[in-house]
Amino acid sequence: MKRTILLFILIPLFVSAQNDNFLLPTYAKQHEYTQQNLYNQAHLIPAGVEKKTDKGLPNFIIVFADDLGYGDLGVYGHPTIKTPSLDQMAAEGQRWTNFYVAASVCTPSRAGLLTGRYPVRSGMCSDKVRVLFPNSVNGLPENEITLAEQLKKVGYATACIGKWHLGHKPQFLPTNNGFDYYFGIPYSNDMDLSTDKGYWEFADSIPTAYYNVPLMRNEEIIERPAEQHTITKRYTEEAISFIKQHKDKPFFVYLAHNLPHIPLFASQEFKGKSKRGLYGDVVEEIDHGVGQILSMLKKEGLADNTIVVFTSDNGPWLPFKTHAGSAGLLRGGKGTTWEGGMREPCIFWSPAKIKPAVVYDLGSTMDLFTTFSKLAGVPIPDDRVIDGVDLSGTLFRNEQSPRKGIFYYHGTQLYAARLGDYKAHFTTEGEFSMSGERVEHETPLLYNLGQDPSEQFDIAEGNAQVLENINKFVQKHKSNLVVGKDQLVDRE
Ligand code: MG
Repeated sequence: MKRTILLFILIPLFVSAQNDNFLLPTYAKQHEYTQQNLYNQAHLIPAGVEKKTDKGLPNFIIVFADDLGYGDLGVYGHPTIKTPSLDQMAAEGQRWTNFYVAASVCTPSRAGLLTGRYPVRSGMCSDKVRVLFPNSVNGLPENEITLAEQLKKVGYATACIGKWHLGHKPQFLPTNNGFDYYFGIPYSNDMDLSTDKGYWEFADSIPTAYYNVPLMRNEEIIERPAEQHTITKRYTEEAISFIKQHKDKPFFVYLAHNLPHIPLFASQEFKGKSKRGLYGDVVEEIDHGVGQILSMLKKEGLADNTIVVFTSDNGPWLPFKTHAGSAGLLRGGKGTTWEGGMREPCIFWSPAKIKPAVVYDLGSTMDLFTTFSKLAGVPIPDDRVIDGVDLSGTLFRNEQSPRKGIFYYHGTQLYAARLGDYKAHFTTEGEFSMSGERVEHETPLLYNLGQDPSEQFDIAEGNAQVLENINKFVQKHKSNLVVGKDQLVDRE
């Protein structure tokens, strides 16, 4: 009798579930609907502000600084660099305190951001050379899918302005990686060096000609050497111009400044103004550019339908002394797997949707791929491992971040892993381009980053269970890891 009653209850439920599935649109459609719904709920347009994008899809702008440290902005505690625009952006948006890049040097970090994958998977990191150089022959493999390519699927206008550093040969340029438009120096601004002088012999007034780097528009070199004194200003102008031209359709602008990577250049308007010296001048000029972009978005009625993110590709290049930034209270800098190498300032801004907050949860540049793809209704590729997670619940509803940990790679080697507040170092090494000793730790160093953000006090002893949990986290990550063919090693 009991069994009969149970069947009467279960059969209709089962049929109903089947019917619901049958009636559901395709996965992509359902996905788009769900994400758009989520986005629209958060999207409250104030009266009188006209919504300019016709499809309702959000615009995305990523402003990516180069070698800017965790402690280099006013709002992150710098005592002398003035960053009123970024401070205001943070006051109106979300300031993240545990936001990570995918690697501690330029090329792999950028590959991670644009593909949503640890660069070890794409081969955009190497144990023989840290980044791509002007005589490198390869770049981002064609089968990798960039965020720009994702957004192109639903009709976004896409621009890459600034430093690329994912291959400068034609087939690897932004225009062959999902971007409609490119304007910038295709690699680091310290390359193509044409002087025998040491950096400090000319550091305070750097001749443009010492760095014979090209400036490109799409696939053509339009200036060489690039006039770097005005490069930050011109990148900002290009971004503003592209946005104004494409404001009637959804757009994605990836504005990757070449600075404050050394050699440092500031325009006349900013040079000599900051108490922090030339480095401060450069950061203050970038800050000014961000302010111009946000003002323009407000003026054009685009602010409420645009998400702007500001972050940096890796920590400060500390051997360059006063020409390097600061990781604040974090240990180490560029090239290391200490926090100062990979934790970055990160501010999200979208005044109608993102409520002002400080977020202490974990996030990563790789998450931008997943979050923005989902908000645009583009399915996440299912034929490969994507390491990014969707942060939209945290951005729009102050939910807990789904990211629980981060892996710290040095080339293809996993040097450290963070799970929750705990970070284990399996291997440590000194600063990039300095002869730092490489140490493999038989018992990993263990730090509680909640209590000890400066990684000063090793607590491995007596915390075997914590180490065991991190080991399991690492083993799971390694279980699906296929190391991509090294794209950095081959040079002309
Ligand atoms: Mg960098």
